[in-house]
Amino acid sequence: MKRLAILGSTGSIGRQTLEVVAANPGRFAVHGLAARGDVDMLRQQVAEFGAASVVQGDPAAAMAGFPVPVLWGEEGLVALATAPEVDQVVVATSGAAGFAPTLAAIRARKEVALANKEVLVMAGEIVTTEAKRHGVTLRPIDSEHSALWQCLQGEDMGAVERLILTASGGPFRTWTVEQMARVTPEEALHHPTWRMGPKITVDSATLFNKGLEVIEAHWLFGVAYERIAVVVHPQSLIHSMVEFRDGSVKAQLGFPDMRLPIQYALGYPERLAARYTSVDWAAAGPVTLAPVDLERFPCLRLAREAGAAGGTRPAVLAAADEVAVELFLGGRIGFLDIPRLIGGALEAYRPAGELTLEAIREADRWAREWAGHEWGHE
Ligand code: MG
Repeated sequence: MKRLAILGSTGSIGRQTLEVVAANPGRFAVHGLAARGDVDMLRQQVAEFGAASVVQGDPAAAMAGFPVPVLWGEEGLVALATAPEVDQVVVATSGAAGFAPTLAAIRARKEVALANKEVLVMAGEIVTTEAKRHGVTLRPIDSEHSALWQCLQGEDMGAVERLILTASGGPFRTWTVEQMARVTPEEALHHPTWRMGPKITVDSATLFNKGLEVIEAHWLFGVAYERIAVVVHPQSLIHSMVEFRDGSVKAQLGFPDMRLPIQYALGYPERLAARYTSVDWAAAGPVTLAPVDLERFPCLRLAREAGAAGGTRPAVLAAADEVAVELFLGGRIGFLDIPRLIGGALEAYRPAGELTLEAIREADRWAREWAGHEWGHE
């Protein structure tokens, strides 16, 4: 029995992680759960999975009468991530909340499954250096990175020519710039192939998410940015590909269902038997690939540039996008203002000196303040 701590258990990835646990009886035990809000769902999860410990992010939440001990905030997340009873930590929190528990879990030499994008995007250099130092393999929970990871099994990294990430292209793949200028939040929240939370759904519509994934792939696999390509693949059946120096290409395919990459991360190196969906390949229809139009999707270019510039710039990138998406969903700015705001923040930013977690948090604060000031009052 592998004992799990699931950070962010009431979010989309957290809930699906628990589905994977339920689908593999006798393989996993849930030691602890952490969630920011949603006390009712947390209570239900504790009852169903018999968790022994819980972390809540909101001190105002009514936790009276909770059946197990409750820890609070970042300190609680770190305590849960390093608890001696825990074998694997699933980091499915969002934003900077994942930094401290991820680093603590690595230093405690836990298995670490990572779904929190910001951890690698904003602090990839620090986190991967620590992982290497402690001999911890970071297990990606993201369909693209799981695909790359699966394709790389048994291969020599020195033989890798290119990583090729696939992108569905989102709901506006075929729209004109004029149409995109009038996109509503409702339209942006409708993803053609994946069911996900609202922030990442909008990030998929702008292709910002793919830009974050390029940065994540860079840190996870140590491949230079110029050797990470992105292609549009609307059917979301090919989850990503690896090209080797002999020209051979490996791809990982499957029905777009996050439980598959979650299960692979949880069970690695074993491929577990639970099966969620299957594809009738004879009836799957055409599988198409096309280039990305960077004119209509400048977020991908902005993310790639910020990633390549490195340091604290990816933190500014991620924070500016978070504010931009919030303003867009609140009807305050247009869809095409999202890349404008991010580009503006990156242009105005003057990087700090040494790369530390504090410098990253400071860059994050700066970007939020800048974006709120420049854009929030329009
Ligand atoms: Mg993805």
